[in-house]
Amino acid sequence: MLPKTVKRICCIGAGYVGGPTCAVIAKQNPDIQVTVVDLSEARIAAWKSTALPIFEPDLYEIVEVARDGTDGRRPNLHFSTDIATAIDEADLIFIAVNTPTKTAGLGAGKASNLAYVESAARMIAEAATSDKIVVEKSTVPCGTADSLRTIFAALAPHLAFDILSNPEFLAEGTAINDLLNPDRILIGSLKDAKSKSAAEALAQVYNWVPRNRIVTVNIWSSELAKLAANCMLAQRISSINSLSAICEATGAEIEELAQVVGLDVRIGGRMLKASAGFGGSCFKKDVLSLVYIAESLHLEEVALHWKSVVDLNEYQKGRFARRITRALHNTLANKRIAILGWAYKKNTRDTRESAAITIAGQLIAEGAQLAIYDPLVSEKQIFDDLESACPNASSSVKVYPDASAACIDACAVVIMTEWDEFKTDYAGSPTFGGMANSSTDDHHLTSTSTSASSDSGIDMQDDPSEK
Ligand code: NAD
Repeated sequence: MLPKTVKRICCIGAGYVGGPTCAVIAKQNPDIQVTVVDLSEARIAAWKSTALPIFEPDLYEIVEVARDGTDGRRPNLHFSTDIATAIDEADLIFIAVNTPTKTAGLGAGKASNLAYVESAARMIAEAATSDKIVVEKSTVPCGTADSLRTIFAALAPHLAFDILSNPEFLAEGTAINDLLNPDRILIGSLKDAKSKSAAEALAQVYNWVPRNRIVTVNIWSSELAKLAANCMLAQRISSINSLSAICEATGAEIEELAQVVGLDVRIGGRMLKASAGFGGSCFKKDVLSLVYIAESLHLEEVALHWKSVVDLNEYQKGRFARRITRALHNTLANKRIAILGWAYKKNTRDTRESAAITIAGQLIAEGAQLAIYDPLVSEKQIFDDLESACPNASSSVKVYPDASAACIDACAVVIMTEWDEFKTDYAGSPTFGGMANSSTDDHHLTSTSTSASSDSGIDMQDDPSEK
């Protein structure tokens, strides 16, 4: 069976995944018309403007080429709230909607909320008047493709839908590089010839990726592999963070330990930097989703194993806040503390699950006055984050337009995001407690430092010890 040639793509969801992914696909495929749709009028208006709704290095340049035809092409990247038209015109539809942790009902606090995926599927079934290839781009629990099939069979039995899984592995902050040079493109399909032909049509969309990096597997393996990859990355961070606690209690040094451990080629040196814990919208929710899947399958020991990854992360954030308190004579009452960095990692303004939010809440609870600065995150976003995590915190917080202003009269400077400007502009000033992760996926890089005016009197440069 010859693969269909994809001419029009619709992507439902114009977020951190849908926007950049489709910008790159459109840029690399001038002959394919790509329309990204969303329920949010504000998000779509921003994608059509010069102030894109998300920040990623090199994203704007790619969008300009495909959306505005700055290289002389006919523009082939479009943004719209007319979801039904974009669905009907497309032969391939990505579902790139959010799949957050459920907050109520069965599995609350662990299971993935699939309401947005279901709503996208219903929109497809209702708007489509011809056969479609439907691609799960969102991270979903194993078995979700079956639910989509049931929805399509019930709502549009006269049409044929080929459902594929093609999870996204980009990391925020390096999304464009990850999309242009992916470690792998994963495509999950069924075993029959029609499904395999749909998978081949999708593979051809990734025309810039070497063929040996396009991995085709069965659809359930694909759904589960994305969850597994994020869980193993998160586990690695929790593992090194757990070892940092032992180092601090024994006099061993976590950076030396990480270096030695990482020299073993079976382990490798990446993702071995201790930190105040991972953040971002994916790691915690994906680990919890796996915990829920294991519990649903009555695999209690497996569930416990993965739950410990999240538990350790919460412990590490608390330990980090306690360490700051301890360094300042066990009380933060009316002490000014500068927080440099609010985004969960550098080169993004995404603050979802940022460790800075939890740690700021704990410092405020100890009576601290926080002076916060982030190069990209807006004052409104910082206050919104604090309001949901720590109500009535606003009287204890001031947001500053630059790092120097935030640091004036601070007893301690806490570097929560490894923005380059913090590394270069403050190099050489007295610091303590460097803690950082090297990033290959969505997680958090952190360090703490005292300013020259610290009253702790301790210079603990490169020493992450909790004293
Ligand atoms: P996001 O919240 O930034 O974007 C999702 C968008 O979908 C929102 O703009 C929302 O308005 C829209 N949406 C929801 N339901 C809709 C509907 N029925 N019709 C139209 N639009 C709808 O989410 P994201 O960070 O882009 O993540 C999307 C998925 O990709 C998630 O499953 C996530 O786990 C996965 N993922 C995220 C990352 C990442 O770094 N953010 C990386 C890999 C995979």
